[in-house]
Amino acid sequence: MKKIFSYLKKNILVIAISFSLGGFAGYKVLESFGIAFLINSIPIPEGSIADKDAFLKTLPEGKPLVQKELIPVEKKAKNIILLISDGMSLSQVSSYRLMKGGPNERISVDKFPISGIVLTHSEDAIVTDSASSATAYSTGKKTNNGALGLDADNKILENFTEIINRYGYVSSLISTSEITHATPAAYASHIDLRWKTDEISLQMMDSDVMTILGGGRHFFLPEDMGGKRSDGLNLLEKVKSSHTVLTKKSELESFNYSDKGKVVGLFADEALRDIETPENHSSEPTSSEMLDFAINRSEHFNKNGCKGFFVMVEGSQVDWAGHANDINYLKREMKDFDEAVNTAIDYASNNQETLVIVTADHETGGLLIEPATPTDYTAPEVKFSFNTGIGYGSHTGVPVPVYAYGPGSENFTGTLDNTDIFFAMIEALDLESNTGSCLN
Ligand SMILES: [Zn+2]
Repeated sequence: MKKIFSYLKKNILVIAISFSLGGFAGYKVLESFGIAFLINSIPIPEGSIADKDAFLKTLPEGKPLVQKELIPVEKKAKNIILLISDGMSLSQVSSYRLMKGGPNERISVDKFPISGIVLTHSEDAIVTDSASSATAYSTGKKTNNGALGLDADNKILENFTEIINRYGYVSSLISTSEITHATPAAYASHIDLRWKTDEISLQMMDSDVMTILGGGRHFFLPEDMGGKRSDGLNLLEKVKSSHTVLTKKSELESFNYSDKGKVVGLFADEALRDIETPENHSSEPTSSEMLDFAINRSEHFNKNGCKGFFVMVEGSQVDWAGHANDINYLKREMKDFDEAVNTAIDYASNNQETLVIVTADHETGGLLIEPATPTDYTAPEVKFSFNTGIGYGSHTGVPVPVYAYGPGSENFTGTLDNTDIFFAMIEALDLESNTGSCLN
């Protein structure tokens, strides 16, 4: 450390002269002095990789959470499309942009006029899991990691789809993982542990959500039929009385929209595009195709008495790519998500009554974008590196971005807590006149 200071002292004079010359002349002095030389000459402190990671800090108790003051929304949104990329912070967005077309490429989120920053901690931890974060988005309340639709004392929290159902809106949930996964489950179930998938699937089927699309057939079948249910129930058979069950992409295309019953689309045994089940893939839809279906179906409900619609789309596997520390997997999943965001923004820019929100629940993997050689800032190559345990890459505590377009988008700017997203969505809708459910 001492060495760094004495080195810097020597060179501060050169930098000070450069600044006092100002502008171009100053820049020229710095250039001749040699930025690369400067970087190369700074001695690297002694120590191991483990030392680098050993900054354990106990954080202050902290202050109580205060809800962000919102701007009253005059022109209300008729519909909301919320897209959550699980595990996506700015490094995932930037990596995808760079890999897709270089630094001047523009991807779907770059088209949004409004953006902000979302803080993600849970009730009991600085680093959130998807269940707690999704509960913050779906109920406006912090909860413990692992819990869905319950507060830290296990009390049931009314979620966004339940609230807006009472005011005449219709809801859809879309996921690229099994649909019992934390993010969609927080909009249609209340349970202390996200791993209780037998109960979650039952509650989701009992909910008022009219369209649920994703993977997860095995979570509807008992173990003796090759499924993952430990309660022995064949839920796929049971829901046939209440739901139209879709299992192939082609059934989305041939669906008769005048069918006003509940729909559950389970297009894979577990997650979509699972590398273990390539035989499933040809019949699996993309996120964009599922969103397109949900929008078309919701418009049909709007024409038949509903006041508006809500669709939540989760890009679930961006998170899994971070856990796996796999940049190519990340690129594929970001592409699928990016296309769904484009579908949403295309619809909203034609429709002009739809609020589109894009955000994430947390960052996964500690993704960095560095020069390929740490001391060389001139090469065209960059190195993408995940900086959490390999193959076990954890979530991190960095904030995530939020992007918004359409009526009510004015509240999605500045710094928000994840619970504020819920309140900004409520503020965007017309929840004055209590019309009752539009679904009966
Ligand atoms: Zn995760």
